[in-house]
Amino acid sequence: MSLRDFARSKDNLNNSGLNNASSVTLRDVSKSYGEEWLSDDVLKDVSIDFPAGELTVIVGPSGCGKSTLVNLMAGFEQPDKGQVLVNGEVIHGPAKDRMVVFQETALIPWQTTFENVIFGPKMRGEKSGKALKDEAEALLVKVGLGEFIHKYPIQLSGGMQRRAELARALINEPTVMIMDEPFRGLDAMSRSLMQEFFLDLFEENKKTNIFVTSEVDEAIFLADNLVILSNKPTTVQKVLKIKLPRPRDYKMLTSAEAFEYKREALELLHDEAMKSFAVLK
Ligand code: ADP
Ligand code: MG
Repeated sequence: MSLRDFARSKDNLNNSGLNNASSVTLRDVSKSYGEEWLSDDVLKDVSIDFPAGELTVIVGPSGCGKSTLVNLMAGFEQPDKGQVLVNGEVIHGPAKDRMVVFQETALIPWQTTFENVIFGPKMRGEKSGKALKDEAEALLVKVGLGEFIHKYPIQLSGGMQRRAELARALINEPTVMIMDEPFRGLDAMSRSLMQEFFLDLFEENKKTNIFVTSEVDEAIFLADNLVILSNKPTTVQKVLKIKLPRPRDYKMLTSAEAFEYKREALELLHDEAMKSFAVLK
């Protein structure tokens, strides 16, 4: 059975109660780094709505502030101006309702996949014993790692490590999943398999997903909403509604509709890239 068929199979559906989703709103968010006299203005009055239960992709040139946005939404950093709201409430720091998966693997190398997955809830004393064991095993099976429960991260491929991280995030039952270029660095084949796997997971549990990428094809393939950023000081250039039907298939990327989205996104991004190139010259 392929990974995709597995993710879609009936016995793998809805066995872990992962149904809540929250809305996230950025309201006039600005962020600079450094001292006033040498300040690096990264974000300028950024307002974005991330509707509950939808998959919103943020795409923008490298260095424009995508990870800064992730850190603000995760609550690792505070905006200089403006607010981050979850379900209409201003956030003041990290919380387990918002889970982040980064590009770099954050698995603990000397713990098995299973130990990595149970780490958070166990440390916080929220879940324990058989219930936690059963839940972790079910999640690892769900992400296709049933055979790799007792392996160490180094024994897993890059794609498997990302799936282990997804399981480790999902065990906290977040209402928002934030992914910061999670598939960057994977080879092309693993990357497209991971995109399909991730979509199936999303289409099944309909959490609020915020996915950051610099790849336009990946963005269009995944997104309900595509937020296109400018260069620094970064603002929102445009939000496109991607109306490709779900469940999605890679073949849809060759449709006239997808091509039109791609043309529009690339044009906007290209103009921004040219501006920063002109500054560098
Ligand atoms: P992206 O993820 O889009 O590539 P980042 O959010 O990582 O961009 O960075 C945006 C800009 O902010 C860069 O110019 C980077 O140098 C700067 N930056 C990010 N984090 C910090 C920090 N903690 N201190 C100083 N500058 C930072
Ligand atoms: Mg980044």
